Amino acid sequence: MTRLFKEFKYRFTYPNVSFIYETVFERADVEYLKDYFNPEDEGFSLRIIKPQKDTLLHDFLRVRLDLDYEYFEDKVGNREIIEEYEKILTTYQVPFPVIKEYDGLDDDDNALEQYEEIESEHINNLKELLKPVFEQIVQESFTILFGDRMFLLKLNEIVASVIVEIKKVDYLDIMSRDGVVKRASYIPEWLKSAIFHRDKGKCQVCGRDLSGLLFLGEEVHYDHVIPLNLSGTNDPTNFQLLCREHNLSKSGTKVMTSERYQTYW
Ligand SMILES: [Zn+2]
Repeated sequence: MTRLFKEFKYRFTYPNVSFIYETVFERADVEYLKDYFNPEDEGFSLRIIKPQKDTLLHDFLRVRLDLDYEYFEDKVGNREIIEEYEKILTTYQVPFPVIKEYDGLDDDDNALEQYEEIESEHINNLKELLKPVFEQIVQESFTILFGDRMFLLKLNEIVASVIVEIKKVDYLDIMSRDGVVKRASYIPEWLKSAIFHRDKGKCQVCGRDLSGLLFLGEEVHYDHVIPLNLSGTNDPTNFQLLCREHNLSKSGTKVMTSERYQTYW
């Protein structure tokens, strides 16, 4: 088996992905979403200037997941928090300590108070154990969403609405002019390989086979879906495979992709 195989559970990933969808597509307040992509944040500028394996989408998923569970903790009682966290840890086969339930026998305030303290400590322990599990849910969610061109386009449109406001004078290292990020000096092999496999060696506009298996002489173009000129970035989520003709016809001024996918039969 190649080193790229990972064991995925997916059990908590689909609800998470669904929630991210809702956040990105149905939240009218783009201003709110822009907060996740802050040029003052070093991680953000690093990701937009040079393709990183830990993409803008990974970071967005990570922050959202933490926030969602913070929100969840605010809304429910300790018992529900414990149940939820233990359920996730069980699914991911992470061993965790157990505490006995409150039996109410010593029914005085002091006993209850003591029990609540035990619960809070237990929750903190569970959260520590959950950190690598949440990271895995981030990786699983990325694997699903990286295959969805319309989602990636929407995400990159939000990012572009941040980039368009960045002035070159404030960020000389990353901007080639106001609202336009510098072109990455090269596209790394790991990214070319990922995009080629995801897009099945075909132009994403016309479907032409670029694999070189059936047709010789076709050029493979790794295209910025949102051109840098239109405030796109060099993040892996903003790349697709195009044939020469379609890449040239975009000429850095158009957004061109498709919602067509190959079915299994
Ligand atoms: Zn084409």
